[in-house]
Amino acid sequence: MSTIDGLPPLREVIATHGLSAKKALGQNFLLDLNLTAKIARQAGDLTACDVLEVGPGPGGLTRGLLAEGARHVLAVEKDARAMAPLAEIAARYPGRLEVLNADALAIDPLAHLTPPIKVVANLPYNIGTELLVRWLTPVQWPPFWQSLTLMFQREVAERIVAQPGSKAYGRLAILAQWRCDARIVMGLPPEAFTPPPKVRSAVVHLTALPEPRFAASAATLQRLTATAFQQRRKMLRASLKGLHPEIGPLLESVGIKPTSRAEEIDVEHFCALARALDAEG
Ligand code: SAM
Repeated sequence: MSTIDGLPPLREVIATHGLSAKKALGQNFLLDLNLTAKIARQAGDLTACDVLEVGPGPGGLTRGLLAEGARHVLAVEKDARAMAPLAEIAARYPGRLEVLNADALAIDPLAHLTPPIKVVANLPYNIGTELLVRWLTPVQWPPFWQSLTLMFQREVAERIVAQPGSKAYGRLAILAQWRCDARIVMGLPPEAFTPPPKVRSAVVHLTALPEPRFAASAATLQRLTATAFQQRRKMLRASLKGLHPEIGPLLESVGIKPTSRAEEIDVEHFCALARALDAEG
């Protein structure tokens, strides 16, 4: 069977290179090149961008990104078995694919990429949230990336885009929505992957805003939301009492009822409370 890019079909690549999926590495592969091209397109125009891809595996999404015209792709893969098939893709797209056999948690992408940079990945489930939190909490804003287009378990995707009042709403939603536009752009059933995972998946697209939506210190907002959501069912006057001796009046001063719970408070009010805490010193 021929493919759009003239490279072998992914099932053949996996068989040739003995790339049987390893659970410990979160390996659930996408083998349908139409689907991987569709995911790549969710990242928008790639022709003037460098792309960071974490966990290319046999290279289905990598091929999608390159076929969609990505200027330069840095693909960071921990599994040495994937190096040979990825080298074949690099040869098909001379000068456009750089592959690192490394742990994505240990590399500095800026040493390899030139802005503007987009991140596109079908993330290994075991480090997906950790990488997202890192990308959302850089020392300086705007971050090194323009957008993130990431596959997660559906439940994690829902936590990123959750609105106040929902069960999924918490720190991840606030962290993401404070400085990004975030939406779910695709849902995928388990059968889309080989082997199929137990849960459904979804692609989330996040675009970095030039400035945070509301002023606040990132450190204070993180400390505040960590404390508030540690006991999400408690009233805020109780869960936050360790942060300020007069927490009730301080909450009221920014328009939050002291009897309300963390999951009812929107990003704007959390930011107002973070500013009030900082103003109190
Ligand atoms: N992108 C491929 C696809 O869509 O078919 C594979 C996705 S699979 C869900 C996750 C990939 O991440 C695997 O290839 C796995 O080996 C790789 N991986 C796991 N942990 C990693 C890490 N710490 N750094 C880089 N890659 C990692």
